Formats: sequence, C-alpha cells, structure tokens
Amino acid sequence: MFFRGPIRSMNYARFLTAVSAARRPSPIRILTELQQRSPPSLISLAGGAPNPNTFPFQSATIKVKGGEALVLDEPLMKRALQYSGSYGIPELLSWMKDLQKSLHNPPTAGFSPERGQMEMCVTTGSQEGLCKIFEMLVSSGDNVLLDAPTYSGTLAALQPLGCNLINVPSDHHGMIPADLRKILGQWDPAEAQKPGSSIPRVLYTIPNGGNPTGASMTHERKQEVYELARKYDFLIIEDDPYYFLQFQKPWAPTFLSMDVDGRVLRTDSFSKILSSGLRIGFVTGPKPLVERVVLHIQASTMHTSTFTQLMVSQLLHNWGPGGFLKHIDGVIDFYRSQRNSMLSSADKWLKDVAEWHPPMAGMFLWIKLKGIKDTQQLIMERALEKEVLLVPGGVFNINSSDPCPYVRAAFSLSTPQQIDEAFRRLADLIKEAM
Ligand code: PMP
Repeated sequence: MFFRGPIRSMNYARFLTAVSAARRPSPIRILTELQQRSPPSLISLAGGAPNPNTFPFQSATIKVKGGEALVLDEPLMKRALQYSGSYGIPELLSWMKDLQKSLHNPPTAGFSPERGQMEMCVTTGSQEGLCKIFEMLVSSGDNVLLDAPTYSGTLAALQPLGCNLINVPSDHHGMIPADLRKILGQWDPAEAQKPGSSIPRVLYTIPNGGNPTGASMTHERKQEVYELARKYDFLIIEDDPYYFLQFQKPWAPTFLSMDVDGRVLRTDSFSKILSSGLRIGFVTGPKPLVERVVLHIQASTMHTSTFTQLMVSQLLHNWGPGGFLKHIDGVIDFYRSQRNSMLSSADKWLKDVAEWHPPMAGMFLWIKLKGIKDTQQLIMERALEKEVLLVPGGVFNINSSDPCPYVRAAFSLSTPQQIDEAFRRLADLIKEAM
C-alpha cells in the first residue's frame, strides 16, 4: 500500500472527549485481569466474585450442526458463569487477533504501543463498541462526517451527543471522495491540530453492504478517503458487520488494512454469521483508543457474557480458521441466493415502478419508488392494509422528516416465494399511489 507524505505521529489525546479523558482504570477490574492470567496455584482473596458452587447450573452440551458438540464440563461451566476480564476472554481474543491479522494484515500490528499498535477488545455486539467509540470521541458541537442514509442505530447513538452531523454524499459504491474533498475544502488542514479547530475529527462509514443502502465502497474510494483522513488528521470508524457477507471474492481491502498511521477504529460483529442473540462484537484499533473503550466497559457492562464468549471460542477452536471460513462460505451462499431471488422478483414486479442497484454484500435492497416523494406515509399507513411491510427510507436520514422516496427490503428472513408475493403487493401499492 502506498501513501504519500511522512508517517504522522498521532496525538491520540487530541481526539478524546472530556468524559473519556476522565476515565480511570477500575482497581478491582485490574485484579480480575491479573487473576485471569495467573497460574491456578494463585490464592486470591482479592475479588468480590460470588462462589459458582452456589449457582444452579452444572454443565452444558451444545449440539453443533454437522460438527463436534461443545461440551462445557463442570470446571469450564464454572468459568462460564463467572466474571471475566473486560477485554474479553483470552482465548477468544487471541483467536480473533490472529484472524484479524490474516484477513487485514494491519500495518499497526507491527507498531510500538505508543505509535498506536493494533489492540482489540470484545464487545456486547458491535453496537456496544460503536456507542463507546462515539462517547470517547464525540462532544457536543463537534462536526462529524458520515454518509447518510445510514444505520439508524448509529444515528440513535450519535444524535443525543449534540454533534453536528455532516452528510457526505454517497452512491451505490459508497461515500464519494470528491464530495468529501469539497466539504473539507472549507478548512485549512494546517489548523487540524490547533485546539478549538472545527475540522471534523471523526468520519463514520459502513464500507460493505451498507445498512440500509446495500452499497459497498470500492478500494480506490477507500484509499482516497484515507488520504483525506491523513491530510486533515481525522479518525475513521469502519463499522463493518457485513464484511463476512461479501458475495464476491477476493473481499475488498479494508480501511484497517491500509492504516499506516493508526487512525482506524474498526467494529466487527458475529451477529450476522454466528448468532445475533449471543451478542459478540469486536473493536480493533490503536491501543491508546481501545484502552479507553475498555475503561468504559469496566464502568458499564464490565465484560461481555463469559458464557457466550466461551461458547463461541470453543466453537472457533474446534473449527479452526479453515472451518470458520468454510462456515462463512455457506452463509454467503445462502444470502447470495436470497439476494438473487429478490432481484428476480424485483425485475418481475417492480421494473416500471422502481429503481435499485444489486447489492454486493449484506442483506438489504434499497429501492427507489418512482413518482413517490416520501415513502413514510405509504408504508406506515397503506402497506399494512396490503399486508406487506418494508422500512421507509426516511428513518435512515440525519433528519428523519426529510422526504425520502426509498424503502429498505431485507432478503434475510423471507422465503423466495414470500419475497415474490411481497413485491407483487408492493407493485400494486405503488401503482395505486402514483
Ligand atoms: N452496524 C450496522 C451497520 C448494523 O447494521 C448493525 C446491526 N443491524 C450493527 C452495527 C449492530 O450489530 P450488532 O450489535 O448486532 O453487532
């Protein structure tokens, strides 16, 4: 990867909100981490943990489709039911660090800690990671860059912080770098490091199979955005829960893979590939920032459920990296086939009344209805009468009351027959409204 200009020395303190900068390590949590890494001969009178012998659960055997059962015998079950360290359990964390290195080969993996060496933590779904990253980096009045329409969960986390969301235009290949350049042109990059500068310090984007647009950003666009991040010294939050649902190989290089400075915070999720209810996500990024996220975890959830972490870690170790990627291939085959069914039904029913671009990842089709200014009323009031439900596009806009002619259709749960019937009903609805 080639980037012009010298390697910047990142001043991470400059990115922190007052709330995040004020966080201090919990002494009790530090002891828990220490205990986790100590030999079994250690006698600890330190922790305030309950005695798992008093818990009603003894062991668990979990059947795995087409594979070896997961056995949580009594000692393992005791661990599963106990408090654990705030970074995540070591075996899951190290497995995921290895995967992250093999998939993205992040330059930061070889940095020194001060230079923002790659670090990771487990979060309760990537949503927890995002909320904590935003609280760490975004203060009231800050300018934040993002490409809307975007994930409503991101808007729900960012908007209460009182920041000014700057919408960078995007198309079906994601954020448009020329527009980002134009927006940033109002500032002098030399001002970026000055206290009180209004230059955005954070850019948020969903690079693959965007929710709701299904858009995936090209490698060239990512490189241009990264170049701008270097020039104006902002951080990139790469929220990539659909990374593993890319329909074509090779998978697109990520922002993390090009991070020569240590300015990318990446959120990954197992929700779409292993289970959404287990709530397992990951934050990967420069150590000084991931450490701050972990301080917040210490003060809130303390850690992601030990039980679910152990269950997932056992599964991953039984499978090995090859088995994991083989499982992902099966999941991708399913979603690709669902996507294809949805596209055929869209061709069959919606050709004259709507427009769309085939998504290359994820689980959503973003459909523009012709001759309809705003889909809110149509969906909320009339669609139910026709017994078809989609999400009106406006909910993904920064200002949800702005008129929006789009709807989001998910191809994850319905059968091809249901999708076909839903689009027949939608076509009727649009024709009546036109
Ligand atoms: N980011 C995006 C773009 C999403 O679509 C979602 C889930 N819908 C999340 C984050 C949160 O996912 P989870 O917390 O289940 O990992």
